[in-house]
Amino acid sequence: MAAFRVRCEEVLTDQTFAGWTVGRYLEHVNASDALRNAFVLPRAMGSFPMPDKAPHDMPIDELVRFWLIHGIVGSIPANRHTVVGGMHRYVESLTPVLKAAGADIRCNTRVFKVLRLEEKVEVHVNSADDKSAILTTDFVLFTIHARNALPLVADDTEPEEASALTAFKIQRARVVVHHDPALMANEHDQWGAFNYVAPDGNWPAVRPTITFYLNRLGRLSEDVPDTFVTMNPFREPSPETVVSDGYLVHPVGIGGTAGRNAISGLEKIQGQRRTWWAGSYIRSPHVHESAWASGRIAAEMLLSWCNEFSACSESKSNVEDLESLISTGSSDDERPGVEKRAVPTTFLKIKPSRLLHARRPRVI
Ligand SMILES: Cc1cc2nc3c(=O)[nH]c(=O)nc-3n(C[C@H](O)[C@H](O)[C@H](O)COP(=O)(O)OP(=O)(O)OC[C@H]3O[C@@H](n4cnc5c(N)ncnc54)[C@H](O)[C@@H]3O)c2cc1C
Repeated sequence: MAAFRVRCEEVLTDQTFAGWTVGRYLEHVNASDALRNAFVLPRAMGSFPMPDKAPHDMPIDELVRFWLIHGIVGSIPANRHTVVGGMHRYVESLTPVLKAAGADIRCNTRVFKVLRLEEKVEVHVNSADDKSAILTTDFVLFTIHARNALPLVADDTEPEEASALTAFKIQRARVVVHHDPALMANEHDQWGAFNYVAPDGNWPAVRPTITFYLNRLGRLSEDVPDTFVTMNPFREPSPETVVSDGYLVHPVGIGGTAGRNAISGLEKIQGQRRTWWAGSYIRSPHVHESAWASGRIAAEMLLSWCNEFSACSESKSNVEDLESLISTGSSDDERPGVEKRAVPTTFLKIKPSRLLHARRPRVI
């Protein structure tokens, strides 16, 4: 297992493995039954950006990239970033910056149509109290999944844009917040922040399936009752323990050549018709850092467009300001021998990172 954890990084650097599935790679490395059934396959089924396929058929490059950032595999500590003080601090800190720049922030407002015209963009919105409005802007930056953006631009999209957007995959997942320990291991000391199912014969019918143990993940205080979030429950939590039960859609890692083609298709339409695109769906492994990195890249492209055309000169806020919110860390790195770094409690300047300083979206 230790050798596999280091060796599997090769699928990201060696083109031989482009488009390989998990099953093919396991054959290639002559994986033992124990490695397959106790480590790779259950964890593959519990990796949330993976497609709802048998684990053997999942793309190996997407899986390894996702595991690398979680410290499950790899020869160096995971390159994770943390918003100091919790994710709500990001919104708290960003709001005054935007307001000072003259931003009109509208919460609980759904965008239902976007029309890109010759010299402006019309954003059609509907607020929570059911009031509709048309906002006129210089440009639009979509930060929702491409598939969800497609209906919003359906009235004025063109074939190249439509085909770039449909190249990305989306998947529906049931997510249940509950207090039922029956979805966890019998022994409390075996409870991790992320908990996988290792079935004895019967594989879960819907994937990915995983249970997040929020008390450990969020380092909640001891008086908070054990709370779990199960994605696609493999067994029903007791109804009286359920706090919420709903569905969401999330990006799916495509991997291989198809994944690279999807990204280059989007690169071609970036900035066309006053429209930019960002979101974790564009960058593997589809976690928060991916969303941040793609947003930063889109912001840089936008600022350069603004400077070039002086179309929106008052929007030149500095993306560097936001970096002070983020701290590097690998608090969930679980490999033996890797020192766990504490999450700092003060704002720190971010260290250079291969994720954040990439100039253009591409598979890394
Ligand atoms: C179950 C689960 C667990 C996860 N756990 C982790 C984890 O532990 N660590 C991690 O790094 N990542 C995790 N992720 C992935 C992470 O949540 C995503 O990568 C990240 O949230 C994507 O950010 P985003 O900004 O691209 O999109 P989103 O977070 O999806 O933001 C898009 C926003 O746009 C809004 N929106 C959508 N349509 C409209 C519309 N028409 N009008 C107005 N607003 C609209 C949405 O409400 C949403 O707020 C998890 C994902 C899932 C599904």
